Amino acid sequence: MRLHRFHGGLRLAGHKAESTRDGLRTCTLPECLQVSLLQHAGEAALPCVAVGEVVVAGQRIGVATGEFSAHVHAPASGRVRSVSSRPVPHLPGVEALHVGIAVDAIQPAAPLALPAMDAATATPGELRERVREAGIVGLGGAGFPTAEKLSAGRELLVLNGAECEPWMACDDALLRAHAGDVLRGGLLLARAVGATRVLLAIEDRMAEALAAAHAAATALNDHESSAVEVVAVPTRYPAGGERQLIQVLTGREVPRGGLPRDLGILVHNVATARAAWRAVALGEVLVSRIVSVTGRGVADPANYVVPLGTPVSHLVTQAGGYTPAAARLLLGGPMMGQALAHDEVPIGKTQGAVLVLSSDDVADERGEMPCIRCGDCASACPSRLQPQMLLWQLRADRLDRASDQGLFDCIECGACDLVCPSHIPLTAHFRHGKSTLRLRALDAGRAQAARERHESRQQRLERESRERAERDARRASALDASSDDAVAAALARARAKRAAAADPGTPP
Ligand code: SF4
Ligand code: SF4
Repeated sequence: MRLHRFHGGLRLAGHKAESTRDGLRTCTLPECLQVSLLQHAGEAALPCVAVGEVVVAGQRIGVATGEFSAHVHAPASGRVRSVSSRPVPHLPGVEALHVGIAVDAIQPAAPLALPAMDAATATPGELRERVREAGIVGLGGAGFPTAEKLSAGRELLVLNGAECEPWMACDDALLRAHAGDVLRGGLLLARAVGATRVLLAIEDRMAEALAAAHAAATALNDHESSAVEVVAVPTRYPAGGERQLIQVLTGREVPRGGLPRDLGILVHNVATARAAWRAVALGEVLVSRIVSVTGRGVADPANYVVPLGTPVSHLVTQAGGYTPAAARLLLGGPMMGQALAHDEVPIGKTQGAVLVLSSDDVADERGEMPCIRCGDCASACPSRLQPQMLLWQLRADRLDRASDQGLFDCIECGACDLVCPSHIPLTAHFRHGKSTLRLRALDAGRAQAARERHESRQQRLERESRERAERDARRASALDASSDDAVAAALARARAKRAAAADPGTPP
């Protein structure tokens, strides 16, 4: 298959081997889980359990509030200890309700499951509904509700196993252990959108994952395997970005402001595909995910199957605890991860790594200097942006101009930060600019909604008053008519009486 290149990007050291030596480990349950009701892009789920209630593993504890939301399930049996607002780690400045579960010492052998379905005969609508019921969202980091992504037809499905962030190896570990599930999930997702071709893209440095994927593809039946192709893509950060991967595989660029669906392409992370397969074939709801616990600041790096809601502190303890060199804690990889101020943060559906950097890793950090307009950031930018220009607009508070110049096409990959000789934290500026614009749009939307509510109330009051007036007028005219009739009848009776008095032979 002919592959293509995307603009910019960087060649980075991988550091995947540090956590993939021992295969997958299972993280033990902590005493208490904090399960966020906003582990996805879109609206938070609404809690459907109360404090003190007993919950069973797999039971729904949060109900999706629409298409752009996702159900949340209890990862373990126990008792609800709290339903409280806490910060959402992947959305700085945002808080959401979390369900705190005091975990039972004895757990059921398996979480509650939905009835298993026959993947071969289920209709696309049934597959979408099952994915929605199971609370599946994009596990590659974006967290977009998967069922919503399956709502339009596509020609090509790309399974994204090009895990390009250094240190992160959750997809690598997943593919080594469960490549068959990933391919079966891919075929199922392809059927849900009518795609006839499935490409499983894996970075060429992930040799074991590639071997496992090829073996799994060979094990598919003839009909299935003819639709699937395993592709080794060149290792270049950020090859795992949705747009960059599409360009590498097809040579086509997603237009600025557009989406892969504009090209008839659907991209799903490999872990999402596996979760979809298990939801359909086994009825499993999404209550755990694979997380890399890695970095020079952790004693025994490995990849763990982690119950959602597990605190980072518990996970790091599983991996042998912090080393004396531990200096910085990140949720995610070194390029796109979020720095954490403490480790009492729960793992959610979109978090694939806990990275503990050592003092050596962060030693060469220098202070920010003025931009020298060298253009290195633009050369590295995989989205073909001019980061120095965006920065200029943002610093002048010209957010709309920054938006016109492609701010929302920034995938926050951090490549510009890494190459900037002036050590300007460009990505942080872009992230902040985007969230400010989103908040402004949200405020504007709320103001517009309030205006519309006010106008519609005014219209309703006017309509009711008009209708009341019309009713009163009708009643008055009916009264007039009936009183005319009554007067006429009284006159007739009086005339009849007088006539009877004048003629004594007529009975009264
Ligand atoms: S790399 Fe840094 S110094 Fe160079 S143009 Fe970009 S922002 Fe300015
Ligand atoms: S963070 Fe944004 S602007 Fe910087 S290189 Fe990546 S896509 Fe380009």
